[in-house]
Amino acid sequence: MGPPGSGKGIRARIIGKMFDIPVITAGDMLREAAFNETEEGLVAEGYMNRGELVPDNIVITIVEERLSRPDVGKGFVLDGFPRSMNQAIALDRILKRLDAKIDYVVAVSARPEAIVVRLSLRRICSKCGAIYHLKDIMPKVEGVCDECGGKLIQREDDKEDIIRRRFEVYERQTFPIIERYSTVGKLKETSGELEIEEIPSVLEKLLSPRS
Ligand code: ADP
Ligand code: ZN
Repeated sequence: MGPPGSGKGIRARIIGKMFDIPVITAGDMLREAAFNETEEGLVAEGYMNRGELVPDNIVITIVEERLSRPDVGKGFVLDGFPRSMNQAIALDRILKRLDAKIDYVVAVSARPEAIVVRLSLRRICSKCGAIYHLKDIMPKVEGVCDECGGKLIQREDDKEDIIRRRFEVYERQTFPIIERYSTVGKLKETSGELEIEEIPSVLEKLLSPRS
């Protein structure tokens, strides 16, 4: 969990590789639904473009469907879910049904000033969702994804006024639910302002069985 642009997406991908488990990214699934122009996707798109949370029922349905596929049996990383109290409650219910439990909640912190700069330089792959940054994580070929050859685009919501709105929404609706996890001792806090190269080793330490 973390504010927009704190680097939670890249951390989720690193953790997924570390444990060889799938990464389930709420924002990517919503963008995919919007791209495919499904009924929910089209509703979601309006909220995303304004920087507001998509209604809980839509997000919960999508995540629940994803978590019913067999590849999550070994474990999974949730990226960008839950983001509201209702979603956190729904996740408890889903986990119970799957007979699964949360091992860690990684909370990433970053200052709004750092976020605005970072997000305005962010580009994402329109096909696989891989994340690039025009200063720190340049693609080998300009405008083309290293992983899949897809076209790199700037997200509609990575514009300054929408970034600020997303930050406010995070502070009001998502930050309070981190509390829930601190009380059960699963919370691991880390800085969103590390250099890219430092991230894997910091996460290894944070998520090692002895820490
Ligand atoms: P960021 O965390 O950088 O804002 P995401 O891709 O995680 O980027 O989210 C982008 C947008 O997708 C959010 O602003 C919101 O509109 C929508 N979204 C993503 N996850 C959720 C969620 N769990 N609940 C509601 N809306 C969500
Ligand atoms: Zn790609």
